[in-house]
Parts: sequence; C-alpha cells; structure tokens
Amino acid sequence: MQLLKDRIRKDGVIKEGNVLKVDSFLNHQMDIALINEMGREFRRLFPDNSINKILTIEASGIGIACITAQYFNNCPVVFAKKTQSINIDGEVYSTQIKSFTHGRTYDVIVKKAFLSPEDNILIIDDFLANGCALLGLIDIVKSSGAKIAGAGIVIEKGYQQGGELVRSKGVRVESLAIIDEMDPVNGCKFRDDN
Ligand code: 5GP
Repeated sequence: MQLLKDRIRKDGVIKEGNVLKVDSFLNHQMDIALINEMGREFRRLFPDNSINKILTIEASGIGIACITAQYFNNCPVVFAKKTQSINIDGEVYSTQIKSFTHGRTYDVIVKKAFLSPEDNILIIDDFLANGCALLGLIDIVKSSGAKIAGAGIVIEKGYQQGGELVRSKGVRVESLAIIDEMDPVNGCKFRDDN
C-alpha cells in the first residue's frame, strides 16, 4: 500500500533493537484517514462475505480493527486481552504470547462466549515480526473451532520468521507493507521497491 509505505518513510523512526516506531500515526497518535484507507485495503484483499468477526490483540490492534470492521458490514471486533493472572474457570480460551517489543511473556485470553464454530474470523494486527502474537491468536481461534479467513497485518518485517511460519501453516497473510531490510542509516527497504 503506497500511502502507508510513503508514511513509514516520512515518519517512521528506526530504533535500536530492530524496532520501527510508528507512534506518530499508528501506535500512539493515530491518523484516522490513513487507517481508514487501510481498512478499505483489507476489505479489497479479503472480499469474502462470510467473514463475520474480527479478532485482534490489545492495545494497538484495537483501533485498526474497529475501523476495518466498518468495511466488513460493521462486524463485531473481539480483542484478546493480556493478563497476568490466568483465569482457570474454563470460561476463556488462553494462550501464551512472548512480546517482541517488551521481551515478556503474557497470558492472553478471549472469553469463550465470543468465538464459536460458526464464526469466520479475520485476524488484524499492527506488526508481524517473529509471529508469536499471530500464532497465539490463531491458536485461540483453532481452540474455538471457528474458521480463519486470514490475517491482515499493517507492517510485516519480512526478514523475521513470522510471515513464513504462519503462511506455512496454511493461513493466508496479507500485509499492507513488507519491510525486507531496515537500519537507522539507510531506512526501510520494502519488498516491492525497485
Ligand atoms: P511478533 O509477535 O510477530 O514477534 O510481534 C508482533 C507484535 O510485536 C506486534 O503486535 C507489535 O505490537 C509488536 N512489534 C513487533 N515488531 C515491532 C516493531 O518493529 N515496532 C513496533 N512498534 N511494534 C512491533
């Protein structure tokens, strides 16, 4: 998505530790017009009319998912919650996710009542790096018996293993920008740049 790549070039900041900061338009302050275009693009990439729910993970995925849902017949958005104390009363699906940016491992939960075998789920997230977050969400959807229509990712760091890992499991992943190389001096090199 050209608009997004231009914006990453203009406002993205490459930090130590292989982290791209996009907090001026995505992860802290949010550019709604840009995210609206992302929603429109996700719809173009996933025209499947049977998608009836979007799943994401707190916190940064929520805004993107909510705007995207408006292009999917205003379907409900469910966000997986990060928690310290796992609820073991059987009411939730849970999985463990290692955070790329914080290095910590979280228990992540979704209430069972909000996912069912009749659902066809589109997963939305901001970044795909090592794939832990996405694999965790896939794990939760599989536990519920729901179908996975695919995953829509805003920024995929294509030189990390996540994309390959998830695609090798047969899950369709569509990323709006794929970064193949990134360093503070030369900036970002995108997959389809010449
Ligand atoms: P993964 O689980 O695929 O390793 O990482 C995905 C999660 O880590 C995303 O939900 C995102 O919050 C965070 N993340 C990974 N890489 C980056 C990055 O370069 N910049 C930012 N801002 N977040 C990242």
